[in-house]
Amino acid sequence: MANLREEIEKRRTFAIISHPDAGKTTLTEKFLLYGGAINLAGTVKGRKSTKHAVSDWMEIEKERGISVTSSVLQFNYDGKCINILDTPGHQDFSEDTYRTLMAADSAVMVIDGAKGVEPQTIKLFKVCVMRHIPIFTFINKFDREARDPYALLDEIEEVLGIRTCPINWPIGCGHNFKGVYDRETEQVSLFHSNAGGKKAVEKEVFDYKDPELPNHISQEYFEKLQEDLEILDGAADAFDEKRVDAGELTPVFFGSALTNFGVETFLQHFLSMTKSPLPRKSDQGMIDPVEEAFSAFVFKIQANMDPKHRDRVAFMRICSGEFDAGMEVNHIQGGRKVKLSQPTQMMADERKIVDKAYGGDIIGVFDPGIFSIGDTLELSNKKFVYEGIPTFAPEHFARVRQIDTMKRKQFLKGVSQIAQEGAIQIFQEYNSGMEEIIVGVVGSLQFEVLTYRLKNEYNVEVRLEMLPYEHIRWIENYTEIDVSAISGTSDMKLVKDLKDRPLLLFAHPWSIGMVLDRNENLKLSEFSRN
Ligand code: GDP
Repeated sequence: MANLREEIEKRRTFAIISHPDAGKTTLTEKFLLYGGAINLAGTVKGRKSTKHAVSDWMEIEKERGISVTSSVLQFNYDGKCINILDTPGHQDFSEDTYRTLMAADSAVMVIDGAKGVEPQTIKLFKVCVMRHIPIFTFINKFDREARDPYALLDEIEEVLGIRTCPINWPIGCGHNFKGVYDRETEQVSLFHSNAGGKKAVEKEVFDYKDPELPNHISQEYFEKLQEDLEILDGAADAFDEKRVDAGELTPVFFGSALTNFGVETFLQHFLSMTKSPLPRKSDQGMIDPVEEAFSAFVFKIQANMDPKHRDRVAFMRICSGEFDAGMEVNHIQGGRKVKLSQPTQMMADERKIVDKAYGGDIIGVFDPGIFSIGDTLELSNKKFVYEGIPTFAPEHFARVRQIDTMKRKQFLKGVSQIAQEGAIQIFQEYNSGMEEIIVGVVGSLQFEVLTYRLKNEYNVEVRLEMLPYEHIRWIENYTEIDVSAISGTSDMKLVKDLKDRPLLLFAHPWSIGMVLDRNENLKLSEFSRN
């Protein structure tokens, strides 16, 4: 038990999120460098070169230069065992990001200092804020010309709706980047550009009160710093652990991932400001990670990760207790015991088989097609379930047909498997079988992923016909009313989901109200009830 407590207290599990190109991969790589998981930064990935990140599994990601799926990496630093969950960098994958955030205890948001909060990813960042978990902000690329730090903070506060609390403060940027001031230690670390940040940088640190400091950063920048510190002390929100924990206040760090500047101090502050895995909510109350037997929930399912082994992997977040390879656990939703086989974890550049893991860790296990997103696995006798993971309402719809009609079976298998992963939702015409398939997605890029994956993994070419619908409503009381008799609008379509539940698709939001007016008994809901 003492050992279990120790192991769990060492755990930190966070998701890293950014707009593409803000520097998430570079920062992750530098974390691994400090953790000793890799010796030379640059080996994990150079996306612009021919090398690809460990976390980029799918071909399409390489082609588009975006992360479509999220992956997990583990490393050790300063006695802590850290799990980093990578997230897709495109707004169309906000649902995937949300699920990943369910498995994380905190999030690190990387922002490009020259670009600030970028329009395309506001959705992703908002999803992050919606989760009410601690969010840490790393404003990157200060070795280049960057925007005014006050303007960057204002933007985060206004656009994302979260207050900011700068933990360090940049002195200049670009050619005039002198270093950063740490508001807690009251010390300035001087910036020296080094060989592309391939090695851990040696720091040169001065006390703010050291009379030598102005000589190093110039009198002009020293005076500017004095002025800034006065403003910050007067106007910036103070660090407040409770507000950070509730996701209302984000500690902000300035640095440069590429040159490795500010990365290690970020990591140190981050580890001291975050907590080890906390109790999680279940339908039978809170589950304490240390007191309880093994429990976990599935937050992601990914098929065909490795084209050589056409397997499906279910990723789970361990919430309590200890995991032993090959152990048998209760799969609550499936109503039976299952053996968790081929458990894997990602370490820097390889997938490795794990034989032990603890509350806070993320593992992937072989999924023979039995798991669904949100499922609970546990070893206690209580048979509790963890809070479900919400599904986002699709906003884009298309009719999907396979070009070669002989490939019907593969086609159906492909779309069903991809739907089980949660990347798409499948609907059918209300009065027919599987011959017409309508696919709904949260972000339209998922149509591209679907087409690509069907071709590459299932050898099926498809044609998509875009449909004009953008709003979806499930019919809550369909057992009580005559669904075929609903008096609709011209932009409305009646379809059913895979569980044969009827629902309505609308092109225009105002039609929803009109249909409700015309059908007094009709009850609609934005969400499907499972
Ligand atoms: P991601 O898409 O968020 O994972 O971004 P990457 O880590 O792949 O970085 C995108 C580009 O920005 C790459 O060319 C990096 O070398 C570059 N980059 C990342 N961090 C910095 C930084 O601190 N300073 C500068 N100048 N470039 C950076």
